[in-house]
Amino acid sequence: MTLSPTLITQFASIVGDKYALTDPAAMASHLHEPRDLYHGRSPLVLKPGSTAEVAAILKLANETRTVIVPQGGNTGLVGGQTADQFGEEVILSLSRLNRIREFDLDGNCVVVEAGVVLETLARAAAEHDRLFPLWLASAGSCQIGGNLASNAGGTQVLAYGNMRELCLGLEVALPDGQVLNGLSRLKKDNTGYDLRDLFIGSEGTLGIITAAVLKLFPQPKGRAVAWAAVESAQQALALLGQARAGGNLTGFELVAHIGMAFTVEYMPGSRMPLETIAPWYVLAEFSSSRSQEDASGTMTSVLEAAFKAGTILDAAIASNKAQEDAFWALRENMSDAQKHAGGSIKHDISLPVASIPAFIGKAAAAVNAMIPGVRLVTFGHLGDGNLHYNVTQPVGMDKAAFLARWGEMNHLVHGIVHEFNGSISAEHGIGRLKRAELTHYKQPLALDLMRRIKAVFDPNGIMNPGKLI
Ligand SMILES: Cc1cc2nc3c(=O)[nH]c(=O)nc-3n(C[C@H](O)[C@H](O)[C@H](O)COP(=O)(O)OP(=O)(O)OC[C@H]3O[C@@H](n4cnc5c(N)ncnc54)[C@H](O)[C@@H]3O)c2cc1C
Repeated sequence: MTLSPTLITQFASIVGDKYALTDPAAMASHLHEPRDLYHGRSPLVLKPGSTAEVAAILKLANETRTVIVPQGGNTGLVGGQTADQFGEEVILSLSRLNRIREFDLDGNCVVVEAGVVLETLARAAAEHDRLFPLWLASAGSCQIGGNLASNAGGTQVLAYGNMRELCLGLEVALPDGQVLNGLSRLKKDNTGYDLRDLFIGSEGTLGIITAAVLKLFPQPKGRAVAWAAVESAQQALALLGQARAGGNLTGFELVAHIGMAFTVEYMPGSRMPLETIAPWYVLAEFSSSRSQEDASGTMTSVLEAAFKAGTILDAAIASNKAQEDAFWALRENMSDAQKHAGGSIKHDISLPVASIPAFIGKAAAAVNAMIPGVRLVTFGHLGDGNLHYNVTQPVGMDKAAFLARWGEMNHLVHGIVHEFNGSISAEHGIGRLKRAELTHYKQPLALDLMRRIKAVFDPNGIMNPGKLI
């Protein structure tokens, strides 16, 4: 259905003309996503300022069968937040729902609106001597609602869990305009089906998250960060076991040498922390709620034992905050660095941790057999079994010809992931990018149940169609 001028005026009257964008220049930043894989068209971007306005928009949309695409910080990597190419879907941006409603320090939780930027919440929590532990390289732009809708992961999942585990309660505007008030602060509430969990990871297909109650943790009193060189993924896994046993482990990232080489070559100011060149590196972070000595002491004894056992070849310890940040920046800049090395076909996968070395071996052989000379920029959150298995084009190959094989390559890699009982989406979600792939690997019964749940919440199919299921 084409959006008539009358309907545009009706939607605009809910939020006020200033917050109903129809001018192409004003809408431009809402129409494409970070990887530039999807470019949408839309007649209208709405920016409501309250839960009541979100609910009123949905009610009108439901009555008029207008499709709504929820959008947070627009940093999603699977195209879930972009409108399609037909120009009839309305984008609903949550950016004005940006209030932190309340810090509950006794309850160790915070009530926050969906449009609060993740980094803003992390800073506000620190001002209250608390930690909100979710951290992604996109923290300066992504929003709490988007983090919840995509069940974001990031670098601290090992210690604190992903967004699902950090959420106590949700307020959600439903497609028919009703508001589900589930802003519970309870850790224990066994009163039936957990509706909250249905919305976390639902990628805007069931309703719009307008606010949430999120858990807080003690602010660490000490942090220690090391960069270690290891011979193989198997050795990295052994180090993970040793580091876990030592306690205080809050981050454990695996990085292939070629990813580092790209970062040092293409990202100004980057340098290798070690002179030792190894096939793989590990970035490990230890935090202590007691003291700096506790964090540093744990890390030093883990590294010393690992060196004696032959698990690591070498290690550098960050001696101050600037160096800690520089080590993390090497890891976080890896995706950007890759862009300068040509086209890359990406996979965000998870595997049972113990099978990661075997997966890496099998996938490398298969991918190289498909396109000889590809460069495997494998990195990720090893502690969570989550790899970003990024395949960069061979030197000299035509970029477009390489990227044209995206689907074929995904299918090959996902097939191997499936053999190892892994998941084709660890933390980015399904969106538009992996919708077809999902049908190959999800149990048909599970897909059927998901479709039936969708029909209960959104019988008219106005919420983000064409995404996820
Ligand atoms: C540099 C970079 C690094 C990243 N690193 C990580 C990482 O380490 N871990 C990780 O998990 N992700 C990562 N991402 C992906 C992305 O940042 C996360 O998926 C993030 O949670 C998306 O939040 P957002 O606010 O940008 O949501 P958007 O991109 O705007 O939307 C994501 C999905 O959620 C839906 N949605 C948004 N807001 C709402 C709402 N209020 N209610 C209902 N549905 C909604 C959208 O429709 C869409 O389907 C990274 C992205 C970039 C660009």
